[in-house]
Amino acid sequence: MTMTDAPFLLDDRWSVPISAIEHWAYCLRQAVLIWQEGYFESNTDTVRGDLAHAAVDRGGNLTGRDGARLWRSLPVRSDRLGIHGICDTVYRGPDGLIPIEHKSGRYRPGGPADLQVAAQVLCLREMFDQPIPHGEVFAGATRRRYEVRVDEAIHTAVREAVEGIRCRIDNPEPPPPLVADRRCERCSLRPGCLPETATRTPLDLFTPRPLRDHP
Ligand code: SF4
Repeated sequence: MTMTDAPFLLDDRWSVPISAIEHWAYCLRQAVLIWQEGYFESNTDTVRGDLAHAAVDRGGNLTGRDGARLWRSLPVRSDRLGIHGICDTVYRGPDGLIPIEHKSGRYRPGGPADLQVAAQVLCLREMFDQPIPHGEVFAGATRRRYEVRVDEAIHTAVREAVEGIRCRIDNPEPPPPLVADRRCERCSLRPGCLPETATRTPLDLFTPRPLRDHP
C-alpha cells in the first residue's frame, strides 16, 4: 500500500482508495484484510498483473498525430464521493476523456473491474466538469477493450461500496471468510485468510473426550 492508495481523512470522512472498491466487489473480507489489516500476499495472478502494468506504471503522457492524448498513471479524486486513486491510462480523443483500466486476465461483464472503472469515470467527471459516458477495461487475455457505461445504477453501486468500506475502516473485526466459494481458489490472500476454517467445527481442546474414543 502506498500513500496514493491508502485511506486518508478527507474532512470528517475517510477518502476511500478506488482499488479498495474493486477488492470490496470481489470479496468483502479481501478488502478488509488489505485495507484495514495491511495484509497482502502475491501469487501468479498478482505477479502477472504487476508485469502487465509495467508500461502504465512508468507514468508520463503521449500525444498522437491526430492530437489525441494518453496519460498514464493519472491521479484522480472525487471530493463528493470521498474517493481517490490512479487511472492506469486516460485517453482524450474527439469524444472526450475515457479512463482505461488494464487487467491481465479476462473481462467479466458486471464484475469488480466495472465498479473500479466507473469510480474513475466519476472522479474525472468531477475534476474536468464534463460528461464522460463510459470507461473501458482492457483485458490482456483477449487483448480487447470493453466498454463500461456509467449510468445511475452503477453510480449507486459505487456509492454503496464506498459507504460500506468507510464503515469497515473503523470496525476492528474483519468479516468472516467466504465459505466454499470459488473466488477463494484464485485469491492470493488464501494462506493468511484460511477460508477453509469457516467450514470446520472449532476444535474444543478443553472438554475431555468420552473414554470410548480412546484406543
Ligand atoms: S481467501 Fe476467500 S474469503 Fe479469504 S479474502 Fe480471499 S476470496 Fe475472501
